[in-house]
Amino acid sequence: MGDGKKRGITRRTLLKTTLTAAVSAGLGSSGHARTDSGGAVATLIDISRCDGCPGRETPACIQACREKNLQRVPEPVDPLPKVFPRGKTEDFSDRKHLTGRLTPYNYLFIHKAEVEHNGKRWSLNIPRRCMHCDNPACATICPFAANHKHKTGAVVIDSEICFGGAKCRTVCPWSIPQRQSGVGIYLQIAPTLAGNGVMFKCDLCHDRLLEGKNPVCVDACPTKAMLSGPRDGIHAEALKRAGQIGGYLYGSEENGGTATLYVSPVPFEKIDAAIEKGPGRPHMAPVERRMAKTDSLANSVLLSPAIGLTAGVLAVAFALKGRKNSGSEKEQKP
Ligand code: SF4
Ligand code: SF4
Ligand code: SF4
Repeated sequence: MGDGKKRGITRRTLLKTTLTAAVSAGLGSSGHARTDSGGAVATLIDISRCDGCPGRETPACIQACREKNLQRVPEPVDPLPKVFPRGKTEDFSDRKHLTGRLTPYNYLFIHKAEVEHNGKRWSLNIPRRCMHCDNPACATICPFAANHKHKTGAVVIDSEICFGGAKCRTVCPWSIPQRQSGVGIYLQIAPTLAGNGVMFKCDLCHDRLLEGKNPVCVDACPTKAMLSGPRDGIHAEALKRAGQIGGYLYGSEENGGTATLYVSPVPFEKIDAAIEKGPGRPHMAPVERRMAKTDSLANSVLLSPAIGLTAGVLAVAFALKGRKNSGSEKEQKP
């Protein structure tokens, strides 16, 4: 049996789905969903409902994300510090307008795919961003403790503490975090010796989740292709929709499970073969669990230079000292 078939919905799954969907919690009549109880949130991305926002210069979800997040990145210093011994700086400050890939200024893009399946040609639009993994190696690996999995389900990089070493991107199966050099705390510590900027990515609109609101991209979508809400309800809804269209799921098993569930009318192997891949444009292939403690790549990354770790401790102390708000939500250990 091919992976595509394995990911299809079996009759047994469908039965379970129907039962659980009947009691799926928190899915409001508006088509959106919230968690007001502070529990873990998940997102359903229904590829069969995303039309890519034809007629709009920028899809509504991307526009909403950019309006909320563009100001998160400070102006980088000029010139960028040269990193010792041969670190490569990354600068997107002259390409803030890019919306067709992930960048430090753009946390969501629409992947296009033309796919033949069951004798039909499908023109698919696939919103792509961080998957918010259940056990994210990107958070476990961070030597500066700048990246955390929160109780809401969001995996959030603290830009005040991040040194931009990009280890999170190295261990991410989809290479999601994107670096902007010339910004961040490393400039105040040892800019040529430790760090290289700040890593940026989707934070699942963590601030809004804490208030019981949806991510802005979810609320902005005119076709309701994205749904956010309590994790159990979202899983049930994803299974129900996949069952209804004889479709496929992505994200429920990838990397040991994630808080993002894609539903598709065609197998993800075909989507992965059809999409353009490269920096800022992640694949959609199956992903085995990739935990930092057991992964050989992650272990090698953990052997960071002592100077980086020392600088990390200094940076964290420096950043925490300057923090005014000490009442933030407790974090969940990955
Ligand atoms: S998709 Fe990558 S960056 Fe996002 S939580 Fe998972 S490992 Fe981290
Ligand atoms: S959840 Fe928030 S940060 Fe993430 S892609 Fe949507 S709008 Fe952007
Ligand atoms: S997810 Fe919604 S807002 Fe985003 S491109 Fe698709 S239809 Fe448009």
